[in-house]
Amino acid sequence: MKKITIAIDGHSACGKSTLAKGLASKLNYVFIDSGAMYRGASLFALRNGCLNQDLDKTLLLSLLDQLNLSFKNVSGTNCLFLGAENIEDEIRQPHVAAVVSKVATIKEVRVKLVAQQQEMGANGGIVMDGRDIGSVVFPNAELKLFVTASTAIRSERRFLELQGKGIKQDIEEVEKNLIERDHIDSTREESPLIQVEDAIVLDNSELSKEEQLEWALNKVFDIIPPSSSI
Ligand code: C5P
Repeated sequence: MKKITIAIDGHSACGKSTLAKGLASKLNYVFIDSGAMYRGASLFALRNGCLNQDLDKTLLLSLLDQLNLSFKNVSGTNCLFLGAENIEDEIRQPHVAAVVSKVATIKEVRVKLVAQQQEMGANGGIVMDGRDIGSVVFPNAELKLFVTASTAIRSERRFLELQGKGIKQDIEEVEKNLIERDHIDSTREESPLIQVEDAIVLDNSELSKEEQLEWALNKVFDIIPPSSSI
């Protein structure tokens, strides 16, 4: 049974992780949310005083060897750990979202996390979502998707998601954060968010979670027919 690599990139809060998780579950693949790792690095930077006025890059680089991120399954959910601590909930908080794109511009941080991501996907059978997965992490991925949706829809979805987790933030603030992150992510020097030539674009503004999962599964089955994949 051939196991492929699936790279999903796209704008903030467009449902990449939901789609990646759904695909991984259907195909019995590993799912990795690479954004969680940049959020984890940002929480580490916050806790170590690297983000007081501005980002203290020198301090963060001096501590980078101590950054120990890993994913562990907790009651069926893939959770990010910093050392022995489960940080899955804290990395979704607005104070982390506010600084993550800044931390993600640092080359050394990216080199460290990309190496870890490539190791996790070395044997295929992985669905990873992020901003540079099809361009940098897995440039040879058999299937590359570029997901997007309108800003208004993405803001509303993220607002409701945060609300569901008991995190209070105005929808205007949510939208401002998304626009700011998209701008930094698309214009940074290191591995900017781009739509690679061989990516298939999915605008899911008008699609339900189920519809987009079915659409993506069909793209997988174009590469590996169902009888040989499950
Ligand atoms: O996917 P998520 O929105 O959680 O990602 C948070 C941030 O992490 C992004 O806005 C981006 O700055 C950074 N990121 C990145 N490269 C990735 C994944 C995320 O730079 N592969």
